[in-house]
Amino acid sequence: MADLNLGTRRVSVLSLSMDLFGAKMEIHPVIIRDRDGVTLVDTGMPGQFSQLRAALEQAGVALTDLRRVILTHQDVDHIGGLPDLLREGPTNLKVWAHAADRPYIEGVKPLLKADPQRTRQMLSHMPPALRAQVESMFVHLPSGRVDVELTDDEVLSVGGGTRVIYTPGHTPGHVSLFVESEKTLITGDAMLIKDGELQGPNPTNTPDMAQAILSLTKLANLPVQTVVCYHGGVYQGNPQARLAYLAAHA
Ligand SMILES: [Zn+2]
Repeated sequence: MADLNLGTRRVSVLSLSMDLFGAKMEIHPVIIRDRDGVTLVDTGMPGQFSQLRAALEQAGVALTDLRRVILTHQDVDHIGGLPDLLREGPTNLKVWAHAADRPYIEGVKPLLKADPQRTRQMLSHMPPALRAQVESMFVHLPSGRVDVELTDDEVLSVGGGTRVIYTPGHTPGHVSLFVESEKTLITGDAMLIKDGELQGPNPTNTPDMAQAILSLTKLANLPVQTVVCYHGGVYQGNPQARLAYLAAHA
């Protein structure tokens, strides 16, 4: 399924899937439409570019319609499609991300979660074609580019007004996005959905859980109607009540 319809023309949730460690992993980049073009939030794993392009096309978006890519953070499943997008997308495509994750995305620093032992273990489970692509980001440095640095609480001229919520913890430069006109919160990995329930971030790949929990309390203060998680998709429950619960009990 390429497009989880939210009942709005403005925000669409894409679905990309892959086999990882023999298990199916589904991830959800988001597109936001404006008159001047389309914004893509997160780009998938290395090796998923043709799937991303097909999902965009199914949502009625050609690569040439893209104006900007917003990266919620530096993790490889979020920045993996960026090199392909920069190569094959329109030449005026802009990349937006928070300053604290910029040096990782641009390959100035190794990806924060590219611990050699963990990387070797992960690579050993991957099919050879994918391994080469993931290796090129973990072993060699990613070669992304950030054109615009996002700052906390700024309102972007995207989707009729999208607020940047700086939500560090999962990575130092993690941001979530709140599309105000749609009351839609795009959490990146600040939250996830497991067994149908909205949860805080996964502790095993969240280096600073204390900060991640503080970030959750920021999200709980927003008038949210719809939550979209990169891992889990669209939340079907009552987001406002669940966010308040998580902020109080995390
Ligand atoms: Zn992720």
